[in-house]
Formats: sequence, structure tokens, C-alpha cells
Amino acid sequence: MTDDRRVERERRRVFEAVGKFLFEHSLDPIPANYMLVHMLVTGSNASAIAAIEEATGDGLRLTQDDADRIMTMLGEASPTPVAPSAEAAIEEARRQVDSFAGIVDTTRAEVRVYGRDLKSGAAQLAAAAGPESIAELIRVTGAMIERTRAAEGRLEAATGEAKTLRARLASAEEEARRDPLTGLPNRRAFGDRYAALSDEGTPFAVALCDIDRFKHINDSHGHAVGDRVLQTVAAILQDSCDGATVARYGGEEFAILFPSKDAATAAAIVDAAREAVASRQFKVRETDAPLGRVAFSAGVVAAARGETYETIIQRADALLYKAKYGGRNRVEAEAS
Ligand code: GH3
Ligand code: MG
Ligand code: MG
Repeated sequence: MTDDRRVERERRRVFEAVGKFLFEHSLDPIPANYMLVHMLVTGSNASAIAAIEEATGDGLRLTQDDADRIMTMLGEASPTPVAPSAEAAIEEARRQVDSFAGIVDTTRAEVRVYGRDLKSGAAQLAAAAGPESIAELIRVTGAMIERTRAAEGRLEAATGEAKTLRARLASAEEEARRDPLTGLPNRRAFGDRYAALSDEGTPFAVALCDIDRFKHINDSHGHAVGDRVLQTVAAILQDSCDGATVARYGGEEFAILFPSKDAATAAAIVDAAREAVASRQFKVRETDAPLGRVAFSAGVVAAARGETYETIIQRADALLYKAKYGGRNRVEAEAS
């Protein structure tokens, strides 16, 4: 699939997913609601995702009051670092393109002037090759060389700026695909990886993991401790799932893509990670007090050929729910 088609498909996915969410939650299609749900669908703002998930945790509808409250909370919090730097880089790119266009226009106009001057110099030379016309020709040629050098200098400076900009755009793009808390790929990057594997026709398995009773950890020890637990679980998952794409899917949820693995093999790897988390002695850094057991539950499925992103996530989510319902700290895989 070409990049254009992939971009087109991603745009359609985002558009449809935002609309679906708004309708399912009976939210008016107003700009603030679009903006909020867009953050959820693209995974661009972990705080927004966490707040939406908290409000809809027990299968509740996201009410307009919830949406307003979350937007106010986001407005008060510091803006996510992703958007501003990406926007600044894009604005800078626009300025540079304008500046390149300006340089090209000026150079073209100057070349037209030399051409005219040279033509008239040559005509004079042909008519009467006196010392005046030769002096004129030398003057025109000298001026032309000088202007060309100046144009070269301007283009060189612009090329240098373009190189810096390209690097900045690449790092802004990278930043927009990474979760700042855990350093893992975010939901958007996960979706891209899914699309790439699906396009290649590589078989793969998907796991959805959700930390058990995480709200309790936050409530008992504070948000900062919760954040550190998230970082540790992220690191354990990444260590345990070598060769897989481990992403932060939402607040305390992680999604993993296992290329070339069936559900049973992927589930065994996730189960080892679950054991590694559950057997770890978590402690509050400041007080050394034990945190109690931290665990997660997971649902693991193998992707059917050509299966849509939405259905595979739904199937994994259903198994995750089964794992929660079955007592938590367990992995449920589909029978192969
Ligand atoms: P369950 O076992 O059913 O999954 O229970 P739970 O408490 O983990 O689930 P619930 O969805 O009720 O709570 C998830 C909590 O995760 C709520 C939210 O405040 C918290 N959370 C989400 N993102 C973050 C984050 O980035 N940092 C911290 N500290 N907490 C977060
Ligand atoms: Mg959850
Ligand atoms: Mg949870």
C-alpha cells in the first residue's frame, strides 16, 4: 500500500471513529467535543484518554458535563508538548518554502535582466565592435557573476536552514508518536504498526493489558506513585516482549503486537510478563513502604487475515474483560 493510501485510510479511520464515539455517547458534534474525542482516537493526549476512561469506566456514557469538565481540566493543565512543537515546525516549514520561492523568483528576474543586457551588448558588438560595447559587455558579465554569487550564497543559507528544519520535523514526528510518561509508542503509532503488518500480510497476535485496580494505587499513594508504577510495568512489558511492539494504549492500558506469533505463543509471553509484574515487590520510593501487589490482566487474540483494527481490538478487549471478571491477574487467550 502506498503512503498516500495509508494516510487516506488513517484519515478515514479517525473521522469515522470520532463520529462513532460522538453518536454512541449522544454528544453534540461541536468543536470542543470533536477536539476531545480526536485526542482519544489518535492517542495524542494521555491525560485526555485517562480522564475519558475514568468517566466511562463502568460502561457509562460520557456526558456533556464530563466532556466540558475534561476540556477545562486539559486547558488548565500544561499543554501537551507534542502539538506545539509539531505546529511550530510546520509553521517554520511554511516560512521556508515561502523564502525559497522568493529566492527563486528574485534569481529568475535577475537572470532575465542579464539576458536582456547581454543580448543588447551582443547586438552592439555585432554592429560596431568598438571599445565602448566591449566595456559594456564586460560590465554586464561582471555584474552577472556577482549576482549569481549572491544568489548562490542565499540558496546555500536556505539549504542549511532546510536541513535543520528537516531534522526538527523528524523529531517532532517521532515525539508525536511516543507516550511521554513511559517512552513507549502511543496509540497512534500502534495503529500504524498494525496497518503496516496487516498490509504486509504478516500473521500476528494482539494483546491488550490493563493494570488491575489501578485506581486504588492512585487513591492510596497518589498520582505520582501511580505514574512510576506505569513506567515500571511499561519497562517490564517491553523487556518481556522482545521483538513485539509494546504501546501505551490509554491510561493504564497497554497494547502489544506480536508479529508472526499465534495467540497461544503470544499469551505465554504475556503471561510471563504478568508473572514478572505480580511477583515484583513495588515500594514507595520516598518512604520505602510496600505498595502491595501490582498486577495486570490481559486478553490475547490472533489477527484474522484482513481483519479490521476495530474488530481485533474489540475481540482482545472482550477477552480482557473475561480475565477481569474471572478474578484479574490472569491472561485469557482465544482458543486456536
Ligand atoms: P480494573 O482492575 O477494573 O482495571 O480497575 P482499575 O482501577 O484499574 O480501572 P479504572 O478504569 O477504574 O481506573 C483506571 C485509573 O487509571 C483511573 C485513572 O485515574 C488512572 N490513570 C489513567 N492514566 C493515568 C496516568 O497517566 N497516571 C496515573 N497516575 N493514573 C492514571
Ligand atoms: Mg482501564
Ligand atoms: Mg485497570
